[in-house]
Amino acid sequence: MMPLSSTSPDPHTIVIGAGLAGLVAAAELIDAGKRVLILEQEPESSFGGQAWWSFGGIFLIDSPEQRRLGVKDSIDLARQDWFGSAGFDRDDDHWPRKWAEAYLEFAAGDKREWLRERGIRFFPIVGWAERGGYTSNGHGNSVPRFHIVWGTGPGVVSPFIDRVRAGVAAGRVELRFRHRVDELLVEDGVVVGAAGTVLAPDDAERGEASNRDAAGQFAVRAPTVIVASGGIGGNHDLVRQNWPTRMGTPPEHMLSGVPAHVDGRMLAITERAGARVINQDRMWHYVEGIENYAPVWARHGIRILPGPSSLWLDATGARLPVPLFPGFDTLGTLEHIVSTGYDYSWFVLTQKIIEKEFALSGSEQNPDLTNRDLRLLAKRVGKGAPGPVEDFKTKGADFVVADTLDELLVGMVKLSNGALDTGRVREEIESRDRGLLNAFGKDAQLNAVRQARNYRGDKLIRVAKPHRLLDPKQGPLIAVKLHILTRKSLGGIETDLQARVLGRDGQPVPGLYAAGEASGFGGGGMHGYRALEGTFLGGCLFSGRVAGRAAAEQPHGEHTVGS
Ligand SMILES: Cc1cc2nc3c(=O)[nH]c(=O)nc-3n(C[C@H](O)[C@H](O)[C@H](O)COP(=O)(O)OP(=O)(O)OC[C@H]3O[C@@H](n4cnc5c(N)ncnc54)[C@H](O)[C@@H]3O)c2cc1C
Repeated sequence: MMPLSSTSPDPHTIVIGAGLAGLVAAAELIDAGKRVLILEQEPESSFGGQAWWSFGGIFLIDSPEQRRLGVKDSIDLARQDWFGSAGFDRDDDHWPRKWAEAYLEFAAGDKREWLRERGIRFFPIVGWAERGGYTSNGHGNSVPRFHIVWGTGPGVVSPFIDRVRAGVAAGRVELRFRHRVDELLVEDGVVVGAAGTVLAPDDAERGEASNRDAAGQFAVRAPTVIVASGGIGGNHDLVRQNWPTRMGTPPEHMLSGVPAHVDGRMLAITERAGARVINQDRMWHYVEGIENYAPVWARHGIRILPGPSSLWLDATGARLPVPLFPGFDTLGTLEHIVSTGYDYSWFVLTQKIIEKEFALSGSEQNPDLTNRDLRLLAKRVGKGAPGPVEDFKTKGADFVVADTLDELLVGMVKLSNGALDTGRVREEIESRDRGLLNAFGKDAQLNAVRQARNYRGDKLIRVAKPHRLLDPKQGPLIAVKLHILTRKSLGGIETDLQARVLGRDGQPVPGLYAAGEASGFGGGGMHGYRALEGTFLGGCLFSGRVAGRAAAEQPHGEHTVGS
């Protein structure tokens, strides 16, 4: 029998997971004067979870940043976009819908001020993610809403890490790294604690996989437990197992957009304690993944956040259908790519386009914004692509750079396992270029590009002036092989509006709360089928806040059974 790790006086709440959602919940509990125990399976080097790696894009509605750029937004417009994207259509969508409503109020209400009080500031140019391209009430953001935090992911999560560390110093918080929860302790239907394995120490750097060697066991008790253990994106077996039937067969080859600790294990553990886990077939994976030439975790992929101008071709060289343009409809594009029978696609573009339109998602890929480096930032508006983009162009396995189309095609063929019809690629490029003879025309993508430049932010730093791909002055030509990249779970543990975990009878499981990606960012899937972006960090902030506040209300030693 392995030794049980020692336990200091019972905390008021056990938080499982030291990612953004868990840290926000803990910070709320500290503010309410409660004792908190945080259990985290990874070493301290990975403190902060996925949020540390994130780009720090945050969804806000009708912000001063939007208004300064001439964007007119409102909660009604955002609600129309959200529900048009979510497509809620299941009985299980009862709580997800309510969470979506509550989250919209937060994003249009005190979210920005609450973040500012914690020292979080925003880059002045608001990004336009998930543009949709359908009708007004269909999928996508009608207006730019992607507010990048000054300092990216670390800028979002650090204020909460600092708060928790201050709680440790004040004796209110105990942080136990290398503590992996394997079981929730349930007595008479009430969750009373958690038990699991103390993992052996590990020197893994942030994001690297750590060992799973058992060095002991632990069991801890508290009147309330918050599960904030993240999603399933690092566990490709679970992703495949839950792959939505409407998306056909899961792709054979996928990159990982998240570290291995995003393993989804806690979902089944929480289910065993009486929780309902819903909408597990709803997920958010990207279609613009490139292999990281300097991987931190296995199959490490980086997502390109593309502007709208690159020509998007399937593996055979055929252009993707309207409106599947870069940055318009992530899951619509995924569904289409999977239907082609291949698990990759291509961007074809020019040097001019890459310079203005390629951003790479992730804090480490944006040193200017992450390190708040104004000198480096100034280069975004100047000539040349950002350094990390240039590095991928020269070192990345998925890039072909060529002065002529013939040369480009040779490079693409080498990366395409015989699937590419080079004649088709040539025809797609040449016909697209003919669409530029006039300042108007029938090509829907070119029209979307022209239209995007009516938004000041896009014209300034995000959308290149329309030009012929075959114009040598705009070159060299570039082709990028794009892989499918796993990232977020949209479904999860069902919760009510107080983040109480609901059981199979629809009643709260006493003592148990959930927050963040583990709870589908609230309710068991507040996004429905599709997201508007910037809503994942925001969903962790909101659901973590709700869970922390609700748990703090729970009297020590008492439980409310029933609704
Ligand atoms: C590269 C990248 C870019 C992103 N960019 C954005 C963006 O711009 N905007 C946006 O909105 N979102 C973005 N996201 C998504 C967002 O960062 C995540 O959805 C969010 O941070 C998830 O936070 P979480 O606290 O729910 O989970 P996590 O960060 O995954 O934290 C969960 C923690 O729980 C621990 N844990 C799990 N199981 C156990 C167990 N059994 N016992 C103990 N501990 C356990 C894990 O080790 C982990 O530390 C990005 C993500 C990545 C990776």
